[in-house]
Amino acid sequence: MANPHIQAQRRIDVACGYALGSYIGVTLTWLAVLISPGLALFALLIAGVGGLIGTLRSLLVLPLRFWLIPVASLFYVKLALVCSYYNVVFVIFFAGVGFTAGFAVPIARLFRHDFARTIPPWVCKRCGYALLGLREPVCPECGEGFDPDKVPDLSQQPSAADDRLQ
Ligand SMILES: [Zn+2]
Repeated sequence: MANPHIQAQRRIDVACGYALGSYIGVTLTWLAVLISPGLALFALLIAGVGGLIGTLRSLLVLPLRFWLIPVASLFYVKLALVCSYYNVVFVIFFAGVGFTAGFAVPIARLFRHDFARTIPPWVCKRCGYALLGLREPVCPECGEGFDPDKVPDLSQQPSAADDRLQ
């Protein structure tokens, strides 16, 4: 029964999380590949799982920027597996460096502009009701209490609608 805005934001937050997970997985893979093949394989698993779930959850549902990194990490996982089969470790390394460098700005942008964004402090945390101008610090929609200091009390100040009435 959650508010659709909150649900949409939650979906975006989860998508950002999987994008970050797959990004970190790929980064750890190339960092570890020259030192510890076991650790690199573990990191590749993180990239694969994060990439797969992130792709399944976001592809065609959210804009490109949310699933680009998970999809790209799946290609990287495939490449890394093929390269390890043919024992060309330097390709895993350099492709990974390219991945991390190339997606550094997109991943930062995702967390700056999309992650945990559209829920303002004057909206009920539980149901999304706009809590403006209430006299009691309780959401009239779902009964959840809130901090009145964080919600502007519109009953104290004339609004644009009131001006038009006068
Ligand atoms: Zn509420």
